[in-house]
Amino acid sequence: MSASSTFDVIFVGAGHNALIAASYLVKEGRSVCLLDLHPTPGGWVRSEELTLPGFVHDTFSALHPIFVGGPVFAELGPELAEHGLRYVQGQTSTGASFPDGRSAVIETDPDALAAELDRLGERHAWTQLMTAVSPHLDSLGPLLGMDLASPEAAGLLRALCRDTGSSVPFTALLSGSGRDLLGDRFASEELIMAWLPWLLHVGLGPHDAGGALWSVLLMATLLAGNPAPVGGSGRLAEALTGLVTAHGAEIRTGVEVDAIVTTGGRATGVRTTDGEQLTATQAVIASTTPDQLYGRLLRDAAGIPESTRVQARG
Ligand SMILES: Cc1cc2nc3c(=O)[nH]c(=O)nc-3n(C[C@H](O)[C@H](O)[C@H](O)COP(=O)(O)OP(=O)(O)OC[C@H]3O[C@@H](n4cnc5c(N)ncnc54)[C@H](O)[C@@H]3O)c2cc1C
Repeated sequence: MSASSTFDVIFVGAGHNALIAASYLVKEGRSVCLLDLHPTPGGWVRSEELTLPGFVHDTFSALHPIFVGGPVFAELGPELAEHGLRYVQGQTSTGASFPDGRSAVIETDPDALAAELDRLGERHAWTQLMTAVSPHLDSLGPLLGMDLASPEAAGLLRALCRDTGSSVPFTALLSGSGRDLLGDRFASEELIMAWLPWLLHVGLGPHDAGGALWSVLLMATLLAGNPAPVGGSGRLAEALTGLVTAHGAEIRTGVEVDAIVTTGGRATGVRTTDGEQLTATQAVIASTTPDQLYGRLLRDAAGIPESTRVQARG
């Protein structure tokens, strides 16, 4: 039997974001194919025996606090558990250590955290900051899982921008940097450095605008814990792979997409480096870096209209 070459939706890349999007599509009954140049799906979420046999290491991503705290895990978590995914977390979420022996340790237990803040002389400043930002967090949490162009998101954003009662207004979080937010409030370099590097996880530097907002969100997330999958980060990729294939998705690995094929300004399929052509009747979703998408995959598609259903992960 020859493999199908026509699907409703074709994904370029089978990282965990593609697998999650695919899981929603296959559950709606769409035929989906994911193509990835790596030998296994999961992108930069994988675990391997990198040192000794039997010792599994996370090759890249290791901890998944934003995923576990978000709406997708709330929806897919039970089904992912059926495919072997289980999270654990220790009592320490994050911290910082310096070559001269100074450190800050952020514990999930409130009493242990309070004792550490006392030791650093930051209990009062910490409480002030948390009190100032906590009214924003109820709206910010849902916004993370929303299309920001939706009317629902616009309503939340308007309410946040109107709220000027807080000593840390939402607009100041939106425009301020992480370094300014933390540096203005804390004297302890250890405490500042326990939080500041987390901004890199959302692609921001310490002085970038928007960093203040993300610092607050990351702090709120990490105070609840810093979960990791039992058996390594790769278990997330394996469980997602199990879920999408159980619902009929096809994953082809070791396949490199060379170009997205367009017809009349619409993405209608892909061409692989082996010269194979696959047809997508509804959409091609490039779950790759923007440089892959714009520098390579769309190079033959000059004049492609904005309405074309090609999406890039930002
Ligand atoms: C060292 C490191 C540590 C990290 N630590 C963490 C962490 O602890 N916690 C956390 O939450 N995040 C962490 N991250 C970030 C996290 O790994 C990424 O955010 C995540 O992998 C992005 O997933 P994705 O599905 O969007 O894309 P990717 O994982 O980038 O997957 C894209 C896939 O597309 C494939 N692809 C690209 N071009 C083509 C093509 N032309 N044809 C076929 N396939 C193609 C690639 O092979 C890849 O498998 C870390 C990242 C790195 C590099």
